[in-house]
Amino acid sequence: MYCTGGIRCEKASAWFKHHGFEDVNQLHGGIIQYAREIKDQGLPSKFVGKNFVFDERLGERITDDVISECHQCGASAITMNCKNDDCHLLFIQCDACAEKMQGCCTHDCQQIYNLPIEEQRKLRKGRKRPIRCQFIALDCAPICDKS
Ligand SMILES: [Zn+2]
Ligand SMILES: [Zn+2]
Repeated sequence: MYCTGGIRCEKASAWFKHHGFEDVNQLHGGIIQYAREIKDQGLPSKFVGKNFVFDERLGERITDDVISECHQCGASAITMNCKNDDCHLLFIQCDACAEKMQGCCTHDCQQIYNLPIEEQRKLRKGRKRPIRCQFIALDCAPICDKS
């Protein structure tokens, strides 16, 4: 397993050791440093795909492989945020679905996204922000609607 924030890996490695795992190692400098070093040394990468990051880039490419699948059709795809600002769900979408859905996670979000900005603001006004249900894009709508 790996994490990019330096918190989950600290907790997870302690948890593994506590549960009897002896060969627990951490990568000094994280994936980014690892990517730099293998490139310098001309070694093949054991890390495949993109390294998720928490800023607007949503990922730094380590190898050209794409291992994630579109939540809507299953094609190979990349991570993105739903274009409906009120949702902004982090999910995975391929280019074809992104075009069809205008970068939205559901048809409900697409409808809102296509409203004039003023209408979108009105919808948001006086309403609690939906609970974020990250990584379960297709199940998002029914859960969010309950808030
Ligand atoms: Zn797709
Ligand atoms: Zn959405």
